[in-house]
Amino acid sequence: MGVNIFDTAEVQNFLRVIANLDGEGGNPRVKSVVHRILSDLFKTIEDFDLTPDEIWAGINYFNTLGSQHEAALLAAGIGLEHYIDLRLDAEDKELGIFGGTPRTIEGPLYVAGTPVAEGKARLDKDPDPDAAPLRIRGTVTGPDGMPVAGALVEIWHSDSKGFYSHFDPTGRQSEFNLRGAIRTGADGKYEALTTMPASYGCPPMGATQALLNQLNRHGQRPAHVHIFVTSDKFRKLTTQFNIEGDPLIWDDFAFATREGLIPPVVEKDDGRAVGFEEDAYRDIEFDLHLTERVDGKDNQIVERARAAA
Ligand code: FE
Repeated sequence: MGVNIFDTAEVQNFLRVIANLDGEGGNPRVKSVVHRILSDLFKTIEDFDLTPDEIWAGINYFNTLGSQHEAALLAAGIGLEHYIDLRLDAEDKELGIFGGTPRTIEGPLYVAGTPVAEGKARLDKDPDPDAAPLRIRGTVTGPDGMPVAGALVEIWHSDSKGFYSHFDPTGRQSEFNLRGAIRTGADGKYEALTTMPASYGCPPMGATQALLNQLNRHGQRPAHVHIFVTSDKFRKLTTQFNIEGDPLIWDDFAFATREGLIPPVVEKDDGRAVGFEEDAYRDIEFDLHLTERVDGKDNQIVERARAAA
């Protein structure tokens, strides 16, 4: 027995008052967005006849989410972060920018401050006997296909348990384990010796998983490696590649998988020659194609709260 009051002058005026739409000062953009979001929320409450109990459950959800520092995780899980990518793709299309490595979500687990190495880096600082050796290598190229010197390739990924250093709930990993920052030389090449990442999921008892449970969705990601590429001349690239063969590749709770981001995994046996302690390893070649700036500006720099060590 829902009541209909949303379209009354009283409620419509109330929404304008809440956002101070007709008042002086404040941030006009924030006022407009707050007005719109609250209008959509009030309308949703009316259309679904949400009970006070349900509304308070939603309000308390935000407290839980924040206390668990899971807001950015939820943003990935509800597709908000992928939606940003879809909008950036469409903007690029409108600007006539094609041909770069596909972008995909950053996720919440980057850590700034990883020491920079020239050309090549060892990422696995801690022993992880359950993780096979992995070499990641490739060339950073510009829009003309030529190698980019001086590009900074930042790489981060999980250990065999699916945990990231700095965020590992077991406290087992040392600072910057499985994180690297590699500066390309004149040949544009980067190389990282590391270990295979594992698939992982949302904390099972966390607020993000609690919402996913209500949707009958899992909170798991396929194994993947995160990458930033920055340079003086071209736009920043934020991307990831997936580990080929992972059963979750097209069933990622964060919607990060994209065509072009699933490079082949090649089994090799000259590990000692390339710097590993054993001969068998996996090799992934993943070139990184950068795109032209827009009117000289890098419009791909995203400001958001990030961890630093
Ligand atoms: Fe990740």
